[in-house]
Amino acid sequence: MCVGSDDLPRLAIEGGQPVRPTLLPYGHQLVDESDIRAVVDVLRSDWLTTGPTIAAFEEAVADYVGARYAVAFSSGTAALHASAFAAGLGPEDEAITTPLTFCATANCVLYQGATPVFADITEDTLVVDPSEVSERITPQTRALIPVDYGGQPADLKALIALAEDHGLTVIEDACHALGAEIEGRRVGSLCHMTVFSFHPVKHITTGEGGMVVTEDAELAHKLRLFRSHGVDRNTEVRERMGAWVYQMQALGYNYRLTDLASALGLSQMKKLDDNLARRHEIARRYDAAFAELPEVDVQGEVPSTRSARHLYVILLRLERLRVGRREVFDALRAENIGVNVHYIPVHLHPYYRTRFGYQGGEYPVAEGIYERLLTLPLFPSMTDEDAETVIQGVRKVCESYSRE
Ligand SMILES: *Cc1c(COP(=O)(O)O)cnc(C)c1O
Repeated sequence: MCVGSDDLPRLAIEGGQPVRPTLLPYGHQLVDESDIRAVVDVLRSDWLTTGPTIAAFEEAVADYVGARYAVAFSSGTAALHASAFAAGLGPEDEAITTPLTFCATANCVLYQGATPVFADITEDTLVVDPSEVSERITPQTRALIPVDYGGQPADLKALIALAEDHGLTVIEDACHALGAEIEGRRVGSLCHMTVFSFHPVKHITTGEGGMVVTEDAELAHKLRLFRSHGVDRNTEVRERMGAWVYQMQALGYNYRLTDLASALGLSQMKKLDDNLARRHEIARRYDAAFAELPEVDVQGEVPSTRSARHLYVILLRLERLRVGRREVFDALRAENIGVNVHYIPVHLHPYYRTRFGYQGGEYPVAEGIYERLLTLPLFPSMTDEDAETVIQGVRKVCESYSRE
């Protein structure tokens, strides 16, 4: 970009006009009148929680992803915790995950008293590198927890093959990836357990909520037990011992999703395909624009996959810029582009540093990527004009700060 700095519009952070008048967030829920009616109907019904709507919501998600069982939870984090329990993780065990994720992915291992082990990511796709995972498998390894970062499915074929060789359980953290596909099959039909989140920034929302899907009846049973105090309401026992009898079989929690929330989720499922299509439209617009911007790279794809396009991240080419990510971030925020950063690598958080002695430098690819990452606004109710202001803002800031 050989534009003399005199020709460039002044950055908002330096007192110029922002590219848009109001802040565009990086994500936002899409709730319409039919969603509201669905919730109100449940409010007028006999069941506010653990009634018929939760089962209907579970069935809708299971059918959509092509899984046999689905168990809803009060959050994606609770769903991850339950998956770690169902996988049998305990104090002697290790589970391998990516450092480039929300801390909940690794924390669920700690909740069970087990040890999270990180494996570095692949530089272009930003998902965990199977060869790095393979090097970290020990006799203590019991589970792999890949993350479909940004909606891009992890290299699950390679990871499932590794898991089969070593007898490991694969818990896919698909909190970004409802509706993503691998070779035409939806995420949720491939791993032992797949976890979704229904936080408002995710593809569908229940306010707070999550779900685990599985093909395995035994895992589904353990997930249900864990969701409700470890209590079993086995009909055989009730017939034998009395209709009031319930038995606590394991230490569980109250991780139930309400029927109110399930009604919202069930209604949102009807709009999931439109939501995904719109995300793809916006992402294609971004792809086309950023292919021509030498200061940024975009996330690469794992072959034969279709991303669910939860996050659109750009990677700054710092060697082409006069400033770092911090300055680009601040300049874009001043332009009213609500950029974000996903994520600070988990091992660099103070808790992990203190507990496990991480000092930085352990996962050079993830740490290097983190220095370059920015998440741009991407959500289905964005207009084409919104997307154009994002492109305009990124271009303006990159050209202003370009070395050329
Ligand atoms: C959102 C998210 C979670 C946690 O989900 P909550 O529903 O917020 O508890 C876990 N992992 C990843 C990768 C997420 O993005």
